[in-house]
Amino acid sequence: MTKPTVAIVGRPNVGKSTIFNRIVGERISIVEDVAGVTRDRIYSSADWLNYDFNLIDTGGIDIGDEPFLEQIRLQAEIAIDEADVIIFLTNGREGVTDADEQVAKILYKTKKPVVLAVNKIDNPEMRDMIYDFYSLGFGDPYPISGSHGLGLGDLLDEVAKNFPATDADAIEDDVIRFSLIGRPNVGKSSLVNALLGEERVIVSDVAGTTTDAIDTSYIFEDQKYRIIDTAGMRKKGKVYENTEKYSVLRALRAIERSDVVLIVLNGEEGIREQDKRIAGYAEEAGKGVMIVVNKWDAVEKDDKTMNAFVADIRDNFQFLEYAPIAFVSAKTKQRVHGLFDKIRMISENHALRIQSSVLNEVIEDAVARNPAPTDKGRRLRIYYTTQVSVQPPTFVVFVNEPELMHFSYERFLQNRLRESFGFEGTPIRLITRARS
Ligand code: GDP
Ligand code: GDP
Repeated sequence: MTKPTVAIVGRPNVGKSTIFNRIVGERISIVEDVAGVTRDRIYSSADWLNYDFNLIDTGGIDIGDEPFLEQIRLQAEIAIDEADVIIFLTNGREGVTDADEQVAKILYKTKKPVVLAVNKIDNPEMRDMIYDFYSLGFGDPYPISGSHGLGLGDLLDEVAKNFPATDADAIEDDVIRFSLIGRPNVGKSSLVNALLGEERVIVSDVAGTTTDAIDTSYIFEDQKYRIIDTAGMRKKGKVYENTEKYSVLRALRAIERSDVVLIVLNGEEGIREQDKRIAGYAEEAGKGVMIVVNKWDAVEKDDKTMNAFVADIRDNFQFLEYAPIAFVSAKTKQRVHGLFDKIRMISENHALRIQSSVLNEVIEDAVARNPAPTDKGRRLRIYYTTQVSVQPPTFVVFVNEPELMHFSYERFLQNRLRESFGFEGTPIRLITRARS
C-alpha cells in the first residue's frame, strides 16, 4: 500500500531539517548509514501519532551551482511534483521575507494542498507573530516550534485531513509492480522501451498517487505488470532531473511502490559506488531484486568476461547474493525478453507461503545435521517455526533462549530454507523469539 507523501519547503534556516528530524524521530535509516551525513537524509517514512506517511525535506536537495533563489524555487517545484501535501515552512521570528514570497508564488501554481507553518514560536507569548503570515495567502498559519516539539500535532492533523482519499495501488493486487533503478544513463528508459516493444504487450498509462508520476501498465502472457515511474525514465527536461539527490529520492519512492526492483548497471562502465548505494536501498526495503547488466552489446568480450562480471557483482553486492543476474542489451534487445519470466518468478518467490508442517520438517532436518549452538552449557532449543508474513517471506523461530541464536546459525538456517524452497530473487527474514 502506498503511503501519502508530505514535503517540507521553505527558504534556508527556517527549520526544515529540524522539523523533519522531529517528525521522523530516531528511525535508523540505511540512507543515513551509507551516506554518513545527517542532512543527506531527506526522505523517510514517518508514523507520527498514528499517521503513516513519507516525508521529504526538500531543503536537502541542492541543485548544482544554481543561485539561492533559483535553488528554493526548484525545491518548491520538486515538492509540487513529488508530494500529496506540502508544508510551507516559515520563521516567525523574522516575519515574512521576500524569499518567503518567492516560495509562495511558486506554490500558488499548484492545486495540491499547502499547509502553512510558522516555526520558532517557542512559547505561547510569541503566538501573535503568526498574524503577519496570513498575507502569504495560504489560510491559517500553524504556529510550531521544532526545537521544543510544540504545535506539531495540530499541524499534522491538518496535513492528514488533506491526504488523498483513494489509493490507486491498493485496489489491484493481481498486478506485479516493478521498477528499474540505477544511475543516470545506465539505460533505464531504453530498457523500458525495449520491454514495452515486446509483442502482445498492451500498454496504458496510469496516474500514480502523485499526479506527476506516470506508471505504465501492461499485460503480458495473461499477467498484469506495472512499471513504476522513476527519475529520468521520461525525460521532462527539468533542471534537477539528473542531480544525484533527486535521482536517489525518486529511486527510494519507486522501490517503495514496487514488488520487484531491477537494479540496472552499465556493462560498459562496471560497478560504481553509487550503484552499491542504490542496491543497498533495494535490499533494505525487503523487495524482490534482480541485477540487470545493460549495454552488453557494447562490451568487448571473450568467454571469460561474463563470469568475471558475475564475480565482481557477487563481490560488491554480497548482501544481494540471492538476486539473479541478467546480461542484456536494450539496444539490440538481446535477452530483454527473458526479463519477463524472471520478474514473474521473483514476484512469486517474494510472496511465497510455506506450509507449516513442511517448514518445520526442514528446520528439524537442519538441526539434526548441524546441532544448535551452546553457550556455557546451555543449548539453543528450537521448538517450532512459523511463517508470519510474505513480501518478503518472514519466519519466526520460537526457541528457549533467543540470545543463544548466533548470527552464523541463523545464516545456516536461512541457507537451508533457501536450498529447500528456492526463494531466488527475494530476501527472507528470520526472527527469533522466546516461546512464551
Ligand atoms: P533549514 O535550513 O530550514 O533546514 O533549518 P534548520 O533545521 O537547519 O534550522 C536552522 C536553525 O534554526 C538551526 O540553528 C535550528 O537550531 C534553529 N531552529 C529550528 N527550529 C527552531 C525552533 O523551533 N525554535 C528556535 N528558536 N530555533 C529553531
Ligand atoms: P537512463 O538515464 O538510465 O534512462 O538511460 P537511457 O535509457 O536514457 O540511456 C542512456 C544512453 O545509453 C543513451 O544514449 C542510450 O542510447 C544508451 N543505451 C541504452 N541502452 C543501451 C544498450 O543496451 N547498448 C548501448 N550500446 N547503448 C545503450
